[in-house]
Amino acid sequence: MREMSTPTLELASAEAIARYEPVIGLEVHVQLATVTKIFCGCPTSFGAPPNTNVCPVCLGLPGALPVLSKDAVELAVKAALALNCQIRSQSRFARKNYFYPDLPKGYQISQYDEPLAEHGWVDIRIDGQTKRLGVTRVHMEDDAGKSIHDGFKDSDLYTYVDLNRCGTPLIEIVSEPDMRSADEAYAYLTELKQMLQFVEVSTCDMEKGHLRCDANVSVRPKGAANFGTKAEVKNVNSFRFVKIALEYEIARQVALIESGGEVAQETRLFNPDTGETVGMRSKEHAHDYRYFPEPDLAPLRISDAWLDQIRATLPELPAQKRQRFVESFGLRDYDAQVVTLTRATADYYETVAAVSGDARAAANWVMGELTGALNAEGKAIEESPVSARQLGELVALIRGGEISNKLAKEIFPKMLASGESAPAIMEREGLKQISDSGALEKIVDDAIAASPKQVEQYKSGKTAVLGYLVGQVMKASRGQANPGSVNELLRKKLC
Ligand code: ADP
Ligand code: ZN
Ligand code: MG
Repeated sequence: MREMSTPTLELASAEAIARYEPVIGLEVHVQLATVTKIFCGCPTSFGAPPNTNVCPVCLGLPGALPVLSKDAVELAVKAALALNCQIRSQSRFARKNYFYPDLPKGYQISQYDEPLAEHGWVDIRIDGQTKRLGVTRVHMEDDAGKSIHDGFKDSDLYTYVDLNRCGTPLIEIVSEPDMRSADEAYAYLTELKQMLQFVEVSTCDMEKGHLRCDANVSVRPKGAANFGTKAEVKNVNSFRFVKIALEYEIARQVALIESGGEVAQETRLFNPDTGETVGMRSKEHAHDYRYFPEPDLAPLRISDAWLDQIRATLPELPAQKRQRFVESFGLRDYDAQVVTLTRATADYYETVAAVSGDARAAANWVMGELTGALNAEGKAIEESPVSARQLGELVALIRGGEISNKLAKEIFPKMLASGESAPAIMEREGLKQISDSGALEKIVDDAIAASPKQVEQYKSGKTAVLGYLVGQVMKASRGQANPGSVNELLRKKLC
């Protein structure tokens, strides 16, 4: 496929763009997290030597028959349920015919007019509001292999074909043209990915191609009743690039229309180096896929009982979790969002909250000290050297007044480094809150003796200076004094 060169185009001004409304619909391909392929027993593992994870079925050899994977169906149904879709009791596979070196069968097995699921939605948060975006359909299909273009060698162009990916199970999630900005598209993708990871349908690892997005976009004058002609931007490999590609495409289309031209219905490719899109093929050369029902597979029937069984395996979804954390833990919206970013984070947080008995402090510790430390070491929360239970214990010690927040922040890095619990570290290092009133009294007396000026100020009515004196005592005690007792003692001694 050669890219057509396009003359560099003057993009539309912000004022011109403001007179138009973008319309965006996304087609997202997601690799299902099954161990084996969709129609054969070959492994789906990534990174095997080229053309080793293959068999007659996924190579499309004559006479080989596909057998549908139950695991793949269950994951696809799980995804569709999480996307609020209606699941068809009977759906059908169809052959989508096209010819390409990485497709040895000569057709892809997909679904066409009887897809697995339809009429779903995803709620996104945008500008502090919730917007519901329609999901047109979710259907199952197999993936093609990979062509690896190796460039020129000895003036010949080399392309290699790796068929390991042939037959990897995918779902395609097609959205309604409901998005009205690149930001909404970004929010939709973020929400979708989070949801699919939560329900463990896919790792959604974009670097491995487990989530791929084609973006359809058109513009129309604000207030116009009909959609404009859309262009489709193919296979953009990060959410940030989707946003950049859409913003470029919106400015390009507005400029075209403003200069009296028309948007061509075409497929375009995004160039990550320039941030531009270039025409790849126009609709006149569009594929005619000659879909027909797959003769080697029976229709897929999903009974109510099976559907109920799959539904019962769905975990609490991110939006439900966020709501529960706000309502029953009293978290702020933003905090609830941060601690539910992944299922692992949410689970970790819930344990810290339960063990410590202080849900808000738990959120602060998870979002602050813990996340900071993990980021610094490039670790995921699953690899945290401090377990959720241990962090919960630490927060409980603060809550119970046994250690100050300051002392806790000194203990925490030691927990990270050693994997030991807070009580064990405190025991070993003699880091105990000073509860012995004699010892505390001595520190307080020393602080008073060392700060005659402040003591005078306090006695002359400037009671705010007490804060300074408390600070001195805390410092002298290495944070091991109970701030409440220090306060009380100082007041008593200074009156
Ligand atoms: P096609 O026939 O080209 O495949 P579809 O109607 O199947 O087009 O839609 C494909 C994707 O394009 C969907 O995600 C849909 O929401 C989106 N889409 C359809 N029409 C438009 C439009 N005018 N502008 C932007 N996106 C659109
Ligand atoms: Zn195979
Ligand atoms: Mg279509």
